[in-house]
Amino acid sequence: MIQCLSPVVFEGPSLKECPKCYFINSNTAKNCKKCGFEFKKTKEEEEEEIIIQLQQMNKWQSLDFLADATFEELELYARAKGYNKNWIKHQLKTEQDFIDYGKYKGYKNGWHKY
Ligand SMILES: [Zn+2]
Repeated sequence: MIQCLSPVVFEGPSLKECPKCYFINSNTAKNCKKCGFEFKKTKEEEEEEIIIQLQQMNKWQSLDFLADATFEELELYARAKGYNKNWIKHQLKTEQDFIDYGKYKGYKNGWHKY
């Protein structure tokens, strides 16, 4: 009887392969268990981690975070909470905030006046 061999598929995203020695590590490993290779996180992975942390924050931790968050962090916060993009604009309080945010987004000067 011939059995149909299916390719080995790693279960979900919970495993990753070391690019150096091809050892299979758990996805949360920071270094390869076999050769010690240091796994670098992609920007997406780092953002994902921040978003998960943000989702676990309580109200006070969130306020603390927002008090001195960068625009990039504000955008991550909006993503974590499922807010729409305009939410960030409501966080801008002073004219300088608007100007800085415009610069961050690459908008033209005076964008907020329209
Ligand atoms: Zn390795």
